[in-house]
Amino acid sequence: MRLILLGPPGAGKGTQAQFLVSRYDIPQLSTGDILRGAIADQTPMGLAAKEIMDRGDLVSDEIVCGIVSERLDSPDAANGFVLDGFPRTIAQAEALETMLQEKGTPLDAVVEIKVDADALVERIQTRAAESGNVRADDNEEVLRNRIAVYRELTEPLVAFYTKRGLVKSVDGMAEIEQVSEAIKNVLEK
Ligand code: AMP
Repeated sequence: MRLILLGPPGAGKGTQAQFLVSRYDIPQLSTGDILRGAIADQTPMGLAAKEIMDRGDLVSDEIVCGIVSERLDSPDAANGFVLDGFPRTIAQAEALETMLQEKGTPLDAVVEIKVDADALVERIQTRAAESGNVRADDNEEVLRNRIAVYRELTEPLVAFYTKRGLVKSVDGMAEIEQVSEAIKNVLEK
């Protein structure tokens, strides 16, 4: 299974990625997690990315494509993967397409998690409060920017992948288990 999870911030991509990891025994490749790890380790990449992430803007295509290219080459990704938070721009999607073409391992599906725009800010703030794990980019102003960036730069990927016949959409407003069930159904039917 080679999958992409697509959806705005707060759609539940990370949670559903965990479900896919356990169901298909594939690794989750989250560019956001890798970047946060680089910030924690204070690597040059982390230092360069921090300010951009704190504003809710996108890190350069070059940096994230480098991360993904390296991750796709590691042995645990040989039998599949779920990409969570990548690609986020058409340029990233094109770069990914080239990487996978070179390996002869095309994508199986792009799972789009659909949620109401109005629900997103509230959801993310609830997530932060419940987990006690408040991210620097979870404050309201930054969040609104992240959602705007999603609409402008990432949402066009739905059309990009629809053209390739890969998009499978699920209703992300349902309970977590029901969303997982819907994803399983669209992938296995
Ligand atoms: P996430 O955890 O996926 O919400 O990502 C958190 C932040 O990391 C984003 O707001 C971006 O600043 C950065 N980031 C993660 N993935 C990407 C990507 N594919 N392209 C550009 N920036 C990214």
